[in-house]
Amino acid sequence: ENLNGKQYVQNVYETVLKRNPGETEFHQAAKEIFTSLIPVFEKFPIYKELNILERISEPERLITFRVPWVDDQGVVKVNRGFRVQFSSTLGPYKGGLRFHPTVNASIIKFLGFEQIFKNALTGQPIGGGKGGSDFDPKGKSDMEIMRFAQSFMTELYRHIGPDIDVPAGDIGVGAREIGYMFGQYKRLRNGNEAGVLTGKGIGYGGSLGRKEATGYGTVYFVDEMLKAKGMDFEGQTVVVSGSGNVAIYAIEKAHQLGAKVVACSDSGGFIFDKNGINLDTVRRLKEVEYKRISEYVKEHPHAVYTEGCEKIWAIPCDIALPCATQNEIDESSAKLLIVNGVKAVGEGANMPSTLEAIDAFLEAGVLFGPAKAANAGGVAVSALEMSQNSMRFSWRFHEVDGKLHEIMKNIYRESVSAAEEFGVPGNYVAGANIAGFRKVADAMIAHGV
Ligand code: GLU
Repeated sequence: ENLNGKQYVQNVYETVLKRNPGETEFHQAAKEIFTSLIPVFEKFPIYKELNILERISEPERLITFRVPWVDDQGVVKVNRGFRVQFSSTLGPYKGGLRFHPTVNASIIKFLGFEQIFKNALTGQPIGGGKGGSDFDPKGKSDMEIMRFAQSFMTELYRHIGPDIDVPAGDIGVGAREIGYMFGQYKRLRNGNEAGVLTGKGIGYGGSLGRKEATGYGTVYFVDEMLKAKGMDFEGQTVVVSGSGNVAIYAIEKAHQLGAKVVACSDSGGFIFDKNGINLDTVRRLKEVEYKRISEYVKEHPHAVYTEGCEKIWAIPCDIALPCATQNEIDESSAKLLIVNGVKAVGEGANMPSTLEAIDAFLEAGVLFGPAKAANAGGVAVSALEMSQNSMRFSWRFHEVDGKLHEIMKNIYRESVSAAEEFGVPGNYVAGANIAGFRKVADAMIAHGV
């Protein structure tokens, strides 16, 4: 068929819609990536001739499974588990597990699809995958979390392995959950395959710098965007949404670079602290006590708690770092940020801005670091954890952090040059999508159909 690039991309997009009915998040992620790729298909017809886009949009495998477990009252519960093994072109499937009531096939596919290109951008030998469950960890006891995690792994273990598929954390899955899943994998396999999961505790194969990596990486990426315009973090006012693993370390690094972070949030609402967020309090509440962010104001009475999350974007700031969840910034929040003078946005979460919000930022000339570039630091250090596990050796914190910083700078450079090459200078969304896509596409060509 002699289609031009735009027609080809449009046809494949319609196929994706037809094959995945009602999966709005997956459609959204596909649309964002597909739109940026049109010039690539115009320039290199080989990608079109080998139908790379349709092949890459269909997961190699999607596994769904039953996760039965017993709660503290002895009641038998059932959740649904997922693992999408999207692309093994560049290495073992790699991507986190999300435990959250909103998890369904659409969410897992959107995350897995993004992961392919993000992982390619890191330059590390990892393919793309994602998984999780609609299990809600909120309010569950430690033993309930353990029993659920064990049951989840009792099915998942047969599908994964250090050279096959390497899960990690995401929303609702941190060091504790990884620990319980790793223990169960080890029992079932009767062997210690450290590289099967990343984000492990430091005492049993984890990497120094992994827990900091996503948040630090987001700030490193934004710092590159700012520096190219003669700016930096020093003295800037920053709003960070979320208060999980990504947000906490984004706040820490932003503070280290001399910025003042005045707000953060959880799914219930947000806190505003004009003196700058006290990170020790947030970290204790969230990482140790598993409490709500609203508790912060009890210890810091001058701070203000507001219920609901959307209004966090009404706080005037120079830099916004959405580190909570998908679609947390819609068009009206984006316009509010723009009116209030935001200079840069760095996506620490996956797909936190809607397509309309992204367009608004780009039109207004706001420096916009898209998730698959700006939050790639987490999975990049996961790949470094895999390397250390293979070597049976550990790097020091500063070695890992140094490698992370180099990787983030490199992602920035590659995004900039791809955007320039394809006629959209300064558009890091297109730049990241194109740079990531081409690495995977070229390897797919090398591997044959
Ligand atoms: N869940 C993280 C992400 O979205 C990390 C994945 C990993 O380390 O494998 O990239």
